[in-house]
Amino acid sequence: MRAALPWSSVTLDSLIGRDGGICVWCGRSPWRTDLTAEHLLPRARHGHAFAENLALACRRCNRRRRTRSVSAYVRAQIHAGERPRLDLLRAALERLSRSGSRAHAQYARRELQLLGRL
Ligand SMILES: [Zn+2]
Repeated sequence: MRAALPWSSVTLDSLIGRDGGICVWCGRSPWRTDLTAEHLLPRARHGHAFAENLALACRRCNRRRRTRSVSAYVRAQIHAGERPRLDLLRAALERLSRSGSRAHAQYARRELQLLGRL
């Protein structure tokens, strides 16, 4: 497994290059200035800013999600009649589940299970 990039080297452009500039929550491709690095395991829950814990989200979605877990926010979106990009979220969580950080990997595996039950 490749070592995680140090957080300071994870740029928005590197995430856009990896993920294609699409918001994982709403599926839109906003202007670059409207994209943010979203923490899959939220910072408030001690999520780190290394590449595998980051996904792209538009500012609006990032703000609306706040510190909810991935599955909790997906559930809220579905109840609101929205269609989160489950394919992108699953791929991001699969990547995170292979993290060298046990706490992050466990969170990702749990979230994948919860998404599977929705
Ligand atoms: Zn969005």
